[in-house]
Amino acid sequence: MPLLIQNGEIITADSRTRADILVEGETISRIGTKLEAPPGTEVIDAAGKYVFPGFIDPHVHIYLPFMATYAKDTQETASIAALVGGTTTWIEMCCPSRVDDALESYRLWKSKAEGNGACDYSFHMSVTKFDDQTEGQLREIVADGIGSFKIFLAYKNFFGVDDGEMYRTLTLARKLGVIVTAHCENAELVARLQQELIAQGKTGPEWHEPSRPESVEAEGTHRFSTFLAATGAAGYVVHLSCEPALRTATRAKESGTKLWVESVIPHFMLDKSYAERPGVEGMKHVMSPPLRDKRNHKILWDALAAGLIDTVGTDHCPFDTSQKLLGRDTFTQIPNGIPGVEERVNLLYTYGVSRGGLDIHRFVDAASTKPAKLFGLFPRKGTIAVGSDADLVVYDPAYRGVISARAQHVNNDYNGFEGMEIDGRPSVVTVRGKVQVRDGKFVGDRRHGQFLKREPNHFQ
Ligand SMILES: [Zn+2]
Repeated sequence: MPLLIQNGEIITADSRTRADILVEGETISRIGTKLEAPPGTEVIDAAGKYVFPGFIDPHVHIYLPFMATYAKDTQETASIAALVGGTTTWIEMCCPSRVDDALESYRLWKSKAEGNGACDYSFHMSVTKFDDQTEGQLREIVADGIGSFKIFLAYKNFFGVDDGEMYRTLTLARKLGVIVTAHCENAELVARLQQELIAQGKTGPEWHEPSRPESVEAEGTHRFSTFLAATGAAGYVVHLSCEPALRTATRAKESGTKLWVESVIPHFMLDKSYAERPGVEGMKHVMSPPLRDKRNHKILWDALAAGLIDTVGTDHCPFDTSQKLLGRDTFTQIPNGIPGVEERVNLLYTYGVSRGGLDIHRFVDAASTKPAKLFGLFPRKGTIAVGSDADLVVYDPAYRGVISARAQHVNNDYNGFEGMEIDGRPSVVTVRGKVQVRDGKFVGDRRHGQFLKREPNHFQ
């Protein structure tokens, strides 16, 4: 059924217009004033509301065997949560461990997603070792439509690559025009600090942050940037959390290194005092890089406003209370992750645009347009234009609510942002022309999500 979205204020990364949008099939067919509705059109009145391009989360974990367990979401639960929160596309991390075969793992991750979710999706392919088979396998994966890799400098012996493997990955990525995303923490220092703290009997979740201090992240960011400069590859730091790492990344950008920066919503909203709460309450707030000293909040918000932080993702990765308790004896055994796929857009809008003075176009850019451009989805995704996919978020800035686990769609028994107020929420969300959400409720097709083939787009 065609859709006509009338009287909304259309906000993209670089424009603001009051106009109607006509959707026919899966794409936007016309944008203009006083558009006529063809017979059989559903008309959506967006008066008093914004119309944003569908938001893109560039960093989620859905299927994830990790730390002796599995992340809790299915494609279905996470995609419904994403859509209710205004996210219409995500890029999931395909994360084999070092002992797994890359190609088999890629096929496994893809099979978990295919036909099982409600929003559109792609993958970043993690390179967790680099041996003689790796280049051929990665070429095959890129040819299948994957334009980005992921490497971990952290998680020694599980996901982590050494410097030689990083070099080989970046060299290949440069040849293929692929962008490499990286988790930047020094694995050796983390392992040593963990051992020292545990030997001193410091085993609670409050010791997670001291085991991965800001300097360890700054070192990883610096090393990654140095390798990017040396190889000429394009890179993207995931979940940058603190000032020293930001300073390092900014210096690299300024010197011409092809480097982009993502921060994730927990690092804007939460600080290390959450992980210092007693018992399981602290464990719920363990992720890596860890929640930091509160002084970093203003630094991250300012850097986002200035465009030094390019994108905002989530690192969505739910583990429930019983899983978090796997770490009751030692913080190193707490499954890492704070889910946020449902809350990212509303929190960024509320504490950025509504209460923090963040420019509304920068908000759209960071949460939709820039991820689309960096990862080869633009202009199919990430904007509102004739010919683009009709992924639209009619957003109600008059809505007032409070985040609560009781109302969430994510498959988890707590919410890391419990009790936070929100000033707005999506009132209608469409994916390729199909209405998937109305007023906080999923009303659409649970199997509507499509795999998005992406071409590498970072050639010299
Ligand atoms: Zn992650």
